[in-house]
Order: sequence, then C-alpha cells, then structure tokens
Amino acid sequence: LFITLEGGEGAGKSTQARLLADALRDRGYETILTREPGGTPGAEAIRHLLLFGEEEFSWRAEVLAHMAARCDHLDNLILPALGRGAIVVCDRFHDSTLAYQGYGVGNASAERLDFIMGARRLVAREPDLTLLLELPREQALERLESRGGRTDRYEGQAEAFHQRVLTGFDTIARAEPERVKRINAGRTPEAVSRALLEAVLQRLDQ
Ligand code: C5P
Repeated sequence: LFITLEGGEGAGKSTQARLLADALRDRGYETILTREPGGTPGAEAIRHLLLFGEEEFSWRAEVLAHMAARCDHLDNLILPALGRGAIVVCDRFHDSTLAYQGYGVGNASAERLDFIMGARRLVAREPDLTLLLELPREQALERLESRGGRTDRYEGQAEAFHQRVLTGFDTIARAEPERVKRINAGRTPEAVSRALLEAVLQRLDQ
C-alpha cells in the first residue's frame, strides 16, 4: 500500500507521517517512512539544488527536476518496498508538484498544469491513498512562527503564493475524492494521528 501525506507548510505532515509509520509498525506491518523531494541519496541531492540552490531554473526544468528526483526515489526505494509487500508512507508526492509548481509557481495556467500532468503520466505511479492535512493558512503561519525560521526557496514566497497552493490541494481533493481523504489538521496531534490511522486501516480492510 502506497500512502502519501500532502498539505501546505505547517500542517504537521512530517510529525504525522512519523506517528503513522510508528502506529503501522506497532500493528506488525513492515512500513517504510520517506519524504519528497528526496528520499534517496540521488533525490536528496536534487532536493538540495531545488530548495537551497542559488540557481534559477526555467519552470519546465524545475518540474522535471522534481520528476527526476521522484523517479530515483521510486526506482531505488518505493517500488522495491511495495514489491515485497511493505507499506510506504511518503511525506509529499505528485500532488505537491501540482500544487506548488502548477498552482503556486505556475498560477494554475493550463499550459503548466498540462505539462505537469504529462510528466506525471510518464513517471507512472499513483499513490493508493492520499491523506490531505488541511489547515487554514493563518493557523499554519502561527505554527511556523513558533517553530522558527527555516526558509527555503518556497517558504519565503508571498502569501498569495501559499493561498494558491492551498487552492491547488483543494482542487485535487475535489477531483479525486476516492484517493484523497481530507483530514482536519487543526486538532491535537493525537486526534489527527487517530484520524490518519483510521483512514489507513479502513483502506487496508477493503
Ligand atoms: O515537506 P516540506 O515542507 O519540508 O517541503 C519542503 C519544501 O519544498 C517546502 O517549502 C515545499 O513548499 C517545497 N516543495 C515544492 N514543490 C514540491 C514539493 C515541495 O515547492 N513539489
């Protein structure tokens, strides 16, 4: 089972991905916890370039760099793990590319969304279940401020950018309600964690 966690910054994805992987392991499932951009040495090198590099990339190069990192991650980690029956929990995946590069950077232009979807079809592995952690931007900002200043290329963007990203995730959830489950991330970490585990166990029972 291939599970992805998605959402904007400050929604608690990384914490929740860890809690979910622990809970699944406690139940006896072999579980791999990983993240994007990154997850393998090659993909982490691309992450570094994308998030902290000085170089500016053309938008197509940026999208394809995310996709190149994803291919490395799939080929070297995710697909082998799924092949031996493990559960993979991945913090961000395809939907982040559409939300950030398509809606955020690309302003939802049809040309960009089409390009991203074309590349996505080439990469060709969709998650079985996506858990979308939803938190209004105001609350996410409060959490980010208390966490303190980590700024990468995207976090420093204007508020309008982050609103477009959230609109992107919302649009994706509407388009694919079967795959994408919305989770209210404004609750305590324990409550969010229970909701995630419940959604995964339900999917495992199907
Ligand atoms: O998951 P995390 O918040 O650590 O993501 C790292 C950074 O990469 C974030 O700033 C996120 O906005 C950005 N990102 C992106 N495009 C993606 C995936 C992540 O801009 N496709």
